[in-house]
Amino acid sequence: MPESDTVMLDTIIGLFMLVSPSATNYDKVVQTLQQIEAQNPAAAQVITIGVNDQGVPIQGLKIGNGPVASLVVGTHHGNEYGSTAVALGVAESFAKNPVDGQTVYIIPVLNISGYNRNSRFETGLKGSQDPNRDYSGPCKRGAIFNLKSTKALADLLEEKNIQISATLHTYWPAVAYPWGISTRDTDIPQRDQYIELAKAATQESNYQVGNSTQLLYAADGAFEDYAYWKHGIWSLLFELGFSHSPSPSAIQTMIEVNVPGIRRFLETSPKQRVTDHLFTGRCDRGVLQRLILE
Ligand SMILES: [Zn+2]
Repeated sequence: MPESDTVMLDTIIGLFMLVSPSATNYDKVVQTLQQIEAQNPAAAQVITIGVNDQGVPIQGLKIGNGPVASLVVGTHHGNEYGSTAVALGVAESFAKNPVDGQTVYIIPVLNISGYNRNSRFETGLKGSQDPNRDYSGPCKRGAIFNLKSTKALADLLEEKNIQISATLHTYWPAVAYPWGISTRDTDIPQRDQYIELAKAATQESNYQVGNSTQLLYAADGAFEDYAYWKHGIWSLLFELGFSHSPSPSAIQTMIEVNVPGIRRFLETSPKQRVTDHLFTGRCDRGVLQRLILE
C-alpha cells in the first residue's frame, strides 16, 4: 500500500475502537466521509442516495469524474463492520488517487440501523429484514424491496448507469462471481473473464475465487446477483477476512490486502455492461441448504 493511502488508516481503524456517548456508529462513518471530502475537495464529494426506513440519509462519496460509473458498497449486513472499514479504506485511497476514467460511488454502510446495533438485519416498516435477500432475482420468491435502503441502491444503479460493482461483506475469505442463486446451473457466458477479474482482485489477499454458489452458498435476492441479472453489471462479491469481529490489526490487514485488489478490479474490468446476462437455467430450492451466513 502506498504511503499516501495510510494517512487516514489510523483514523478509520480508530472508528471501530472509539466509544462516544452521543454519536452513533454511523455518525462516525459520516464524519469520516466528510473528512475525506474536506481533505480531497477536488476529487471527493459527499452524496446522499436516499433515506432508510427511519428517515436517516444513506450517505456515501462520489469520487472522480470519469465517464464510466462504478460502485463499491459495504455493510448490507450491519454486523459486518470489517466491510465498512474496507469501504472507507477504498474511499480514502481513491480520493487521493481517483481511478482513471471512472466516477466511483462508495456507500460504506447500506444498513444503518443494523450497523448501529451490530446486527445483520435492518429494521424496516415490515419488521426486521435481511437486506441482502431483498432484491429481485430469477429464483427469488416473496416480496422484494421491503427496505428503502435496498430500493435506493437499486435506483442508484439505474440513475448513475453503474457498469462495475463491488459489494463487500465479511467473511470467508473469497471473491465470488454470479450465479449465487438457488440453482445447479451456475455457469454464465462471461465465466472466464470473471475468473480473471477475481484473480486480479485477490493478488494481495490470496482469497479463494469462484462462483458464489459453489464457493459460498446459494442465496436468492442478493445484491451481487441482482446487479448482474437485472443490468449486466460486472459484479463481484467480496467476502472479506476471517471473522465477523476482526481486531484492529485484522482490520488494518483487510484494508491493506483488499484496497489494491478492488482498485485493480475496477481498472481491469470491461467498462460496459454485458448484454448476455439473463438466467436460462432451472431454479432448485434444494441447494438452499447451508446455514452459515456470510
Ligand atoms: Zn454479509
